[in-house]
Amino acid sequence: MDIEEFRRRGKEMVDLMCNYYTTVHERPVRSQVEPGYLRPLLPDAAPAEGESFDDILSDVQSHILPGITHWQSPSFFAYFSANSSPPGLLGEMLSSALNTIGFSWITSPASTELETIVLDWLGKLLGLPHAFLAVGPDGKLGRGGGVIQSTASEATLVALLAARSRAMAGRPPEDALRLVAYSSDQAHSCMQKACMISGTRHMRQLRARADRAWALDPEDLQAAVEADVAAGLIPFYLVATFGTTSSCAVDPLRPLGELAARHGMWMHVDAAYAGVAAILPEQRAGLDGLELAHSFDTNCHKWLLVNFDCSCLWVRDAEPLKEALSLTPHFLRAKGNALDYKDWQVPLGRRFRALKLWFVLRTYGRAGLQAYLRHHLALAATVEARVRADARFELAAPPRFALVCFRLKGASCEQNAALIESVNQTGRAFLSHTELGSQYTLRFAISGAQTQACHVDAAWQLVADKASELLGAQHL
Ligand code: PLP
Repeated sequence: MDIEEFRRRGKEMVDLMCNYYTTVHERPVRSQVEPGYLRPLLPDAAPAEGESFDDILSDVQSHILPGITHWQSPSFFAYFSANSSPPGLLGEMLSSALNTIGFSWITSPASTELETIVLDWLGKLLGLPHAFLAVGPDGKLGRGGGVIQSTASEATLVALLAARSRAMAGRPPEDALRLVAYSSDQAHSCMQKACMISGTRHMRQLRARADRAWALDPEDLQAAVEADVAAGLIPFYLVATFGTTSSCAVDPLRPLGELAARHGMWMHVDAAYAGVAAILPEQRAGLDGLELAHSFDTNCHKWLLVNFDCSCLWVRDAEPLKEALSLTPHFLRAKGNALDYKDWQVPLGRRFRALKLWFVLRTYGRAGLQAYLRHHLALAATVEARVRADARFELAAPPRFALVCFRLKGASCEQNAALIESVNQTGRAFLSHTELGSQYTLRFAISGAQTQACHVDAAWQLVADKASELLGAQHL
């Protein structure tokens, strides 16, 4: 394909994208295909000769789109959403076109410098403590700063590696076997994965209870840490979550941070979904004590209109991160002391992700982003009100941010599972589920970029109708 055909095809592709966005609400939200559907539809080897782009696009329409679960549907209420927006998409396009691999400053100075600047911008919008910003209020470079990772899982791993490097400084290598990491059992499984990858032998996932709104109890943590210290282990890493995946529970940062400080632990705050809500001053209460954390991460690709991937990680002090991850082979050695983001992440290569974040922050501004978040919070409040108003349902956790967890009251796990499956099978809405205190729980998560009240109303009506079918007329 030469550049002139690309020019023509590119314009067609933008049309295709626009048509997709304006009609996505008509498609079944959850893909209706069965596992293995694609293999019989495609040849078993790549073509010997190049094919026309028309043929390729025709296969996209007939074979690929039916196998897509439409995360951009306004009736997608499962998991946490993957936001997309026109400026986010345009940023992705431009970054793809430039196709830089900005692992060190010299490989693309603008990509490194823009990333540092927009992470300071976003950090200020979120009200992060100054220590997390690259440039402090005095205009001077500090020890901290932000970096864009691909996912919150990577951020949790990278923070763990920094914590380990800090804890192991001056210790014999065999002490690594005595390191112990902590979180609640509501923390995302990426914490467990980070421990697996890093060879962290001891991990405590402390039980969060319903009577503490599924948050980690500092007293339980204290008891676990003291028992481990008495047994000769070395506490080194604590993950506190601001908005857990199951129910959006918020761990109490201040007492946890004080405890972490007493025991020399690194506290990472995983705010993958809910962190961006801190753009709203009224949502910041749960971040009290954040200045005690060593790192904080939030995914702008979940709820801030930035296309996947854009997980923003800030550290108060970048040195332990660099000590853990910096390795410069001869062919990468450069002069000077410019910031090389390869030393802040696991891979070497990195995309120019700051561009799309910059486009989004500039296009919407603080006021636009605040209005967007408040819109979803208001919609979630209507779902909460409906759960409360229908005696057949109960809330399974205090609603937080734009997530409502609920279930059929007094019904079995199987009945609740049947309810959600009957809703999802229609293709008219897509909800997901979790387990809270061994009980099957439905999750209604509202953060789709195109979601309006009519979509929420229709989805709730569908849930209510399916509940009526399931429970029978006597329960109406
Ligand atoms: N942490 C929390 C609290 C999450 O909710 C999620 C995903 O929903 C993750 C981590 C993992 O996110 P990622 O896919 O960016 O690794």
